[in-house]
Amino acid sequence: MIAKIYTNSIHMEAMEKLLKRLPPEHRLYVKILNEIGATKGGDFGEEIVYKELEKMQLPFKYYVFHKLLLYAENAFELDFLLITPFGAVILEVKNIIGELEFQENPSQLIQRKETGEIKKYPCPAHQLNEYKYQLSQFFMDHNILVPIFGAVVFASRNSFVKSSTDKAIILNKNEVRPYLRQFQKQKPTITMEEIEKMKDVLLMKNTPFAKFPLTKHYSIQPEELRKGVECSKCGFIGMNKRKRTWHCPACKTNDLFAYKNALTTYFWLYKDSITNKECREFLLLNNRYEAKHILSNSDLIKHGNNKCTIYKMKKPFIH
Ligand SMILES: [Zn+2]
Repeated sequence: MIAKIYTNSIHMEAMEKLLKRLPPEHRLYVKILNEIGATKGGDFGEEIVYKELEKMQLPFKYYVFHKLLLYAENAFELDFLLITPFGAVILEVKNIIGELEFQENPSQLIQRKETGEIKKYPCPAHQLNEYKYQLSQFFMDHNILVPIFGAVVFASRNSFVKSSTDKAIILNKNEVRPYLRQFQKQKPTITMEEIEKMKDVLLMKNTPFAKFPLTKHYSIQPEELRKGVECSKCGFIGMNKRKRTWHCPACKTNDLFAYKNALTTYFWLYKDSITNKECREFLLLNNRYEAKHILSNSDLIKHGNNKCTIYKMKKPFIH
């Protein structure tokens, strides 16, 4: 049973907004561009594994969580976590194609693409073992005592593992279900009550999107970013406010609600609150009454009065 459904990474959408507003010559432009590529690949791999898990019918009660961000010694994010009567099972998903070789001392994963390109990655077995440790600490903090299992899953059928490792279980996506089925040979050690308790704790302690606001995460100064309302049709940034609408000088589109996306972008990139002045600066407005009208009609929570008024999102960073 799915306890936390598959969610596309909202973080990626925010990263794309950040990249769009960053000048191409900025010192972080290429780094963020590469991170977006890696996140897209990762999301795709997780979607494939999620479909496998959705189809799964196991002869015992279990819960599946997609993307949990938890805190123990430090923050850690699990692609998938299953809670079963036999213990917790972490699935660390990788979408890396080509010929793959696990190496040790230092542990790393070497990828050789068909084109001959060679790339190295942090070792996923090592990563999984670190997550198992962090999860054991997290459970200990919440008085939960359960065995923790895990496997690294290569999601793409174009991944060829040439040399594996004995540091973790390595699976192809079609081995996920047989791997989980084999648990039923063991004696269940966790009661239904404990499973329910773990589910509640995990959902309560999940803290998504810790990288927001992104300018803070990447130490980018707010003034380094391009300001203005983005046209949803052509992507032009800097729509003009007209009497009842927003007008795009590039493609001539009129959009009544174009400011809504701009405000969401503001919260993702800058901070979780906005004042009238900040709104005018970001949307490139020169009329404080117009800014007030926009902020009052954007489903935000108002704090304070007059010049000290700030507006906050109702549910910050939760989709
Ligand atoms: Zn346009």
